[in-house]
Amino acid sequence: MTTLPPTTFSPDYATARQRFQQSASRLGWRLESYSIGLHGPTGEELEFDVALSHGEVTDKVLVVSSGLHGVEGFFGSAVQVACMEHWLSTEAPSVKCLFLHGLNAYGFAWLRRFDESNVDPNRNFLLPGEHFEGAPDGYQQLDRFLNPRHSPSPWEPFTLKALWLIARYGMPALRQSIAGGQYTFPQGLFFGGKGPSRSQQILREHMPLWLNGCRQVAHLDFHTGLGRFTTHKLLIDYPLSEAQRNWFSHWFGADSFEAIDSAEMAYEARGGFGRWCVSQRLAANYLFACAEFGTYGGIQVLAGLRAENQAHHWGSPQDPSTIRAKRRLMELFCPASPTWRSQCVTSGQRLIEQALQGLLQS
Ligand SMILES: [Zn+2]
Repeated sequence: MTTLPPTTFSPDYATARQRFQQSASRLGWRLESYSIGLHGPTGEELEFDVALSHGEVTDKVLVVSSGLHGVEGFFGSAVQVACMEHWLSTEAPSVKCLFLHGLNAYGFAWLRRFDESNVDPNRNFLLPGEHFEGAPDGYQQLDRFLNPRHSPSPWEPFTLKALWLIARYGMPALRQSIAGGQYTFPQGLFFGGKGPSRSQQILREHMPLWLNGCRQVAHLDFHTGLGRFTTHKLLIDYPLSEAQRNWFSHWFGADSFEAIDSAEMAYEARGGFGRWCVSQRLAANYLFACAEFGTYGGIQVLAGLRAENQAHHWGSPQDPSTIRAKRRLMELFCPASPTWRSQCVTSGQRLIEQALQGLLQS
């Protein structure tokens, strides 16, 4: 498979969307768009796009989704477009494909992880009987540090404070408290919302139609910002059955994934997209993994998220500090490094090919 030049990465949401639609329509795939009723920085309409192939094998479906975490969509979109362009020059997969582009179009367009209601979409997919309330132990004590309620100032001793907190509580406990998902502080980081988000509602309504008649699904949801630079891991936020564990091992390799019950799992989050998809009974076998690509260190990423969230709520869009915070977030979740871009897109394409092979053989 050819390595794509960094230009495959779109400079903004509108371009990413256009490229996605162009590649899908050149493949003859069916396109659908769902408006979230909002606009981007240049007045463009914000929509979540869906492309569906016809496929000869329709009881098995490959699902590839991007942009659940807004700004992370630049990478996921580049992988989706690279795959479609590759198939245009070779051969399209016989397995039916469902590509979901820009699940959080607002965050994608406005360079945020969170959506139009400050919701972290990957904390919003609670299951029946779970409630949109509460926060992990320790979040309340960290609230003032994580979510300052004033406009950004030029110098804030973030790293020092973060290191002090790590020394005091330890990294695993801190990560769990901060990133586990909270439903109490609506302007805070990792807020899971007060009810199902717009994109969850769209997915709930349409996934059964898109996946109608399928028996086996392999779903890769692309993310960035966790793990070492250029490396990747499949993260699984639901307990795996023996059969699912075997599929992951055979399709992607025994070291390729971390399940929720494994010792290395970074942290356990509430309201994950994967666990929700698997619980919807959309297919007899629904295999989901979050394909997570590493960029920068955890403290840098957290500092970037905090600064952008602070600027978003307490600064104005034209402030140099807001523009700086957005640019920084972009770099943290989609590094400009040509090495990162080409290696990660190639790895992403390989995961998709492995999933297709696996589906064909299962
Ligand atoms: Zn993510």
